[in-house]
Amino acid sequence: MRDETKCLHSGYTPKNTEPRVVPIVQSTTYVYDSTREVAAVFDDPTKSLIYSRFANPTVMAVEEKIADLEGGLAAMCTTSGQAASLLSILNLCRTGDSFISTPQIYGGTINLFAFTLKKYGIECIFVDQNADEETIHKAFKPNTKLVFGETLANPALTVFDIEKFAKIAHDHNVPLIIDNTFATPVLCKPFEFGADIVVHSTTKYMDGHAVQGGGVIVDSGNFDWKKGDFPELTEPDESYHGIIYTETYGKAAYILKARMQLMRDFGCYPAAHSAFLLNLGLETLAVRMPRYCENALKVAKFLQASDKIESVKYPGLETDPDYELAQKYLPKGCSGVISFVVKGGREVAEKFMDSLKLASNEVHVADIRTCVLHPASETHRQLTEEQLVAAGINPGLVRFSVGLENVEDILEDVENALAAL
Ligand SMILES: *Cc1c(COP(=O)(O)O)cnc(C)c1O
Repeated sequence: MRDETKCLHSGYTPKNTEPRVVPIVQSTTYVYDSTREVAAVFDDPTKSLIYSRFANPTVMAVEEKIADLEGGLAAMCTTSGQAASLLSILNLCRTGDSFISTPQIYGGTINLFAFTLKKYGIECIFVDQNADEETIHKAFKPNTKLVFGETLANPALTVFDIEKFAKIAHDHNVPLIIDNTFATPVLCKPFEFGADIVVHSTTKYMDGHAVQGGGVIVDSGNFDWKKGDFPELTEPDESYHGIIYTETYGKAAYILKARMQLMRDFGCYPAAHSAFLLNLGLETLAVRMPRYCENALKVAKFLQASDKIESVKYPGLETDPDYELAQKYLPKGCSGVISFVVKGGREVAEKFMDSLKLASNEVHVADIRTCVLHPASETHRQLTEEQLVAAGINPGLVRFSVGLENVEDILEDVENALAAL
């Protein structure tokens, strides 16, 4: 099946007289005829359903759909994108371990990596994604367990060279984890370029309608954990009657360990109703993504031509420094998100935002409706002007998330707001 078809049909195939639409299984638990059967399910929880902290049939249908779209082996949904990123790391790293990430990632992920994980003794080594290969190789330590990057960074809109980093990671026998939120599998499938694990905030384009938050981890099933140093996967898990994940589950070791151990202990599994809504969003994902890209490219070109705009960052523009990487990894388009700097700094940027009538001012991105955010006075408002510059956030920077309205209406809104400056 192609993406449009997978979006509609993967994960759920009703049998004779069963509901056409994936049902919401609103039950926390499942009944068994005997204690012996329940005991058997505890021995191997992949055989059947136990409890809603581990799995739910509605959520599982969505997991299968997303795994199929990414071309992966299996997936596990979480209650947020943050939970997906966290578990993807904790599934491999213990206190005393390290991992490598580029700093060109989502701000919330930077907080998690640089501050919170550090408090638990897991070190994130930040390496600029444009660094030369030798510098990247040198950043590895004997305790480095993985490499992390974001296909299309939020809000920097830089493009990550997945193939280059996959090769480097594999030279060190560690996997590459990719946050593929902005691209979605419709615009880029990181496994095709050698990535091993993919995470998403499904809150963004996958849901698409701003109705519920969520995340997902997808396992390609391709990484050979026995080749590297991954005691979490290759040594007995005391908390699960000594199971060795690589021996019992083979290619599915990573994703099943994440469910059986981390989900069991941290408990961030989504509700059936949330999965049902996410599924509705996914059904149209492959149809929506090309239109976001088309609209955004027109808006980016319009902004670039305006003398009130200092600079525009959108890798679909031929003048963009990441244009070539985008041609390789995002040939179908670069999503609906654009960032640009208004001439005149913070106050002029605020005036521009307040003059918009169609685009709404909100803390969200990748929605069906056009929305806009001013990092300097909103998400990054605690920083001084100097700190903003150090963090690469120009006080005049606007993050503009182009929606699916008629593009002429979006352009008129932008034009009127620029005229008000
Ligand atoms: C929003 C976002 C996250 C965090 O996801 P939540 O669902 O808000 O927890 C992670 N990565 C990227 C790229 C995001 O845009």
